[in-house]
Amino acid sequence: MNIPMVDLKNQYLKIKDQIDNAILNVIDKTQFINGDDVKLFKNELAEYLKVKHVIPCGNGTDALQVALMALDLKPGDEVISSDFTFIATVETIALLGLKPVMVDVDPDTFLIDPDKIEKVITPRTKAIMPVHLFGQCADMDRIMAIAEKYNLFVIEDTAQAIGSDFKSEKAWVKKAGTIGNIGCTSFFPSKNLGCYGDGGAIFTNDDELAQKISILVNHGMKVRYYHDLIGVNSRLDSIQAAILRIKLPYLDSYNQARVNAANYYDKAFAGCEKIITPKRFEKSTHTFHQYTLRLVNVNRQKLMEHLASKGIASAVYYPVPLHKQKAFQQFDYNPSDFPVTDMLCEQVLSLPMNTELNEEIIKYIAESVLEFVNS
Ligand SMILES: *Cc1c(COP(=O)(O)O)cnc(C)c1O
Repeated sequence: MNIPMVDLKNQYLKIKDQIDNAILNVIDKTQFINGDDVKLFKNELAEYLKVKHVIPCGNGTDALQVALMALDLKPGDEVISSDFTFIATVETIALLGLKPVMVDVDPDTFLIDPDKIEKVITPRTKAIMPVHLFGQCADMDRIMAIAEKYNLFVIEDTAQAIGSDFKSEKAWVKKAGTIGNIGCTSFFPSKNLGCYGDGGAIFTNDDELAQKISILVNHGMKVRYYHDLIGVNSRLDSIQAAILRIKLPYLDSYNQARVNAANYYDKAFAGCEKIITPKRFEKSTHTFHQYTLRLVNVNRQKLMEHLASKGIASAVYYPVPLHKQKAFQQFDYNPSDFPVTDMLCEQVLSLPMNTELNEEIIKYIAESVLEFVNS
């Protein structure tokens, strides 16, 4: 047995002919940068998300950075995000000379806790960056209401939740990343919509922001060699766009395969007191970028070793809260502000989650987990 966290090979083999043709087509046309596939993908993704503008870029981290650059913030301005996320979210804030203000998360959903957002708002707060972690949306009703009250921008980090729906209490439904001022995503190969290299995109319904973002990703120029803004070079290349054009029509079925896998896991772990299965947040669909358990009174390291001995991969997302990262000590966080993140970093364990799992494999994984936990 060899069960990896992600299985990109078997996913590829099912669409091999389409993918190979798409890649060869780009090579044949030699339109490697800004080719037709980039323009077509941009429109197809906008249509899927029901958002007015999609601006492709080099990766998800660039997407977040450029989104922040588009807001004209001043050094020292504060941006609120989650303490429990991948480093990219808060890294871009710090990189631009802004101050990352971290907020603790909800223990059941792992999502930013709206009750704790308002408490950290100061006159310098300019934006909130909620992260739709592991595949479900943060509470955008609450976050948008706070943003409106304090006149803040909202940038959604949708790198782990592309295709998820947020179901507002006001009876509308929108795709993750299309609710705030700007949404950002990543097409890193292991993401729910992954390309075969690096890639990312920025979404917005705001015409002015869209115009500015498309200039920022292209050296700050609208007319060639005339630079209106200090920008960056961040592009989705044509081969990646061609691959994404093939994969986008499968995204809903890929996400459904993940949900099916999660349901099998849930069933297998039901009734085990030492395992807390991931809670479904009622306002969001869940696209299970990760299937993440909380372990109660279980030696996680030993469990991971036991699983490895049976050929099963597992991983800890994330082992260290951001406020404890060495690079962020300069911001002087109060360590007692993040009890939930501290606890989660000790408890969480993610199991294999991808589009190629079936009930039989999941039974084997779950039995192997339970064998250790109940021993
Ligand atoms: C993957 C990821 C990113 C960064 O995307 P890259 O394409 O790797 O730069 C940002 N935020 C979150 C939550 C992610 O999971």
